Amino acid sequence: MKSNRPIAGSARRRRSSERPPARAAAKPAPVSPATAAHRLRRMHDRLVAAYGPQYWWPAHSAFEVILGAYLTQNTAWKAVERSLANLRHAGALSVEGLRALSLDELRVLIQPSGFFTRKAPALKAFVSMLDEEFSGSLEVLRAAPARVVRKRLLALPGVGPETADAILLYALGAPVPVADEYLRRIAERHHLLAPSPGRKTISYDALSALTRRAFARDPEPARAALYNEFHALTVAVGKAHCGPTPRCQGCPLAFDLKKTHPGR
Ligand code: SF4
Repeated sequence: MKSNRPIAGSARRRRSSERPPARAAAKPAPVSPATAAHRLRRMHDRLVAAYGPQYWWPAHSAFEVILGAYLTQNTAWKAVERSLANLRHAGALSVEGLRALSLDELRVLIQPSGFFTRKAPALKAFVSMLDEEFSGSLEVLRAAPARVVRKRLLALPGVGPETADAILLYALGAPVPVADEYLRRIAERHHLLAPSPGRKTISYDALSALTRRAFARDPEPARAALYNEFHALTVAVGKAHCGPTPRCQGCPLAFDLKKTHPGR
C-alpha cells in the first residue's frame, strides 16, 4: 500500500523555482436530492435514445422470472440459462412443477447457476409461502399490496431487497424500482449520492429512493414500465461501459459527468 506520508525533508529540498505540487482536486459539492433525481431522469432519457427498448425480463412466464431472480444471485445470466433449461426439460418451470420436485432433484437441476445448496431450499421456501399464504397462486400474490408482499418476500431465506424488488416489478408488475451494483456505480461516479456516515457504500434504500424521486413526475400508471426499462438500461450501460473500471469514452452518460467534473 502506498503511504500518504510526505517524504521527510522534501519541502526543504524543493528549489524556489519549482512549482508547488498540484492541490488535490476539490471534492464536488453534494447535489440536492431534487437535482440528483432530475439528472437521473435525464440519464434515463439518454439511455433510451442510445439503447432503445430492452424487453425485460427475459422469461416466458411470471414464475420463470421468479426462478431467474433467485438463480441470478452472484451468478452470470449464461449460467442461469443452463439451470432454466434443465428445469424446462424436467417440466419444472411452473409452481406445480417445482412443487413436485424433491429438494435433491432441484439441487441437481440448478447446479449450473451455483450456490445450489442455498438456492434450492430458498426456492422451495418461496413455493411453501405461496401455498400456505397465497393459495398457491401467483395471481393471489399479485393482488396483494406490494408493500405487504415485499415484507413477506424479505422474510424468506435467500431474498434480499434486489431479489424482492425484481420479483415485484418483473414478475408481479408492481411499480417498484430495482437497484443494483450498476446503479450504485453510476450514482457514486456521478456524485448523485454519497454513502451515509459510517458506511462505505451507498445503501440500497438510498438508490431506490433516488429512482422513485427521478420518476415521481411521471404518471403513476406508467411507472412500472419506466422502472422496468430503467433497470434494464442501467444494466446495459453498466455492462458496456461502467464496470469496475469505467470506460467513459463513448458512454451515453458521459454528458452528465460535466456537471460534477467540469474539466471533462
Ligand atoms: S462509464 Fe463513465 S460516463 Fe458511463 S456511467 Fe460510468 S462513470 Fe458515467
